Amino acid sequence: MRTPFIAGNWKMHMNRAEAGALAQAMKNELAGVPHKLMVAPPFTALETVGAVLQGSNILLGAQNMAPATSGAHTGEISPLMLKDLGVSVVILGHSERRHSYGESDALINQKVHLALQEGLEVILCVGETLEEREANRVDEVVETQMREGLKGITADQLDKVTIAYEPVWAIGTGKTATPDDADAVHKTIRDFVATLYGADEAGKMVIQYGGSVKPDNVKGLMGRDNIDGALVGGASLKTETFVPIAQFD
Ligand code: PGA
Repeated sequence: MRTPFIAGNWKMHMNRAEAGALAQAMKNELAGVPHKLMVAPPFTALETVGAVLQGSNILLGAQNMAPATSGAHTGEISPLMLKDLGVSVVILGHSERRHSYGESDALINQKVHLALQEGLEVILCVGETLEEREANRVDEVVETQMREGLKGITADQLDKVTIAYEPVWAIGTGKTATPDDADAVHKTIRDFVATLYGADEAGKMVIQYGGSVKPDNVKGLMGRDNIDGALVGGASLKTETFVPIAQFD
């Protein structure tokens, strides 16, 4: 009942020509794939990639956005500017934003509200550090990130939210959570959505896994009850790796 959602996060890679060429190749190779698909290029390549993806089955995503629509926010990009470029999904609370740029749950919550008000879909990222995992704090950390990140969001609005569980220690490291470990946290997340919004909303919630997803581990992960998709970093930068991930069955 939940449509699998495979998203590529290109992070700070590629100039416009490279991004446009990659988008074109993905558009060609992923035509007809039944899953929901998205790629999030860097801001500077959004216009190029958006033009290439017109008429395709791949949504245009952004990797972040400002907590305001306009004004004195040097260096920031407004949701209105993203919409103007054809963006329909925004990734919020990625661990690199939380840990390298100090984004708090309160700031992320402000962004979630604004994105939804502006009609953008949200991928809200949550996940624990290695230290937190070793201290057996996974559930507590993930629940706090969700409670704070979704504060004030209504059940109706939740239909436009995807949760991405990305254990920080698995991002870009080649270490993947085992399907069992990942599914256990996904279940915690789904149960927590049920606590906050009820069983119906929890049943509908699409929960992606992220952290070193590759063609050879995607099937094992996606086969689990509570894993509904993937947020893919490194392996989304090449068709050889992203296409088989996006086509998993
Ligand atoms: P990775 O990144 O696939 O390179 O581990 C995932 C992410 O940061 O979204």
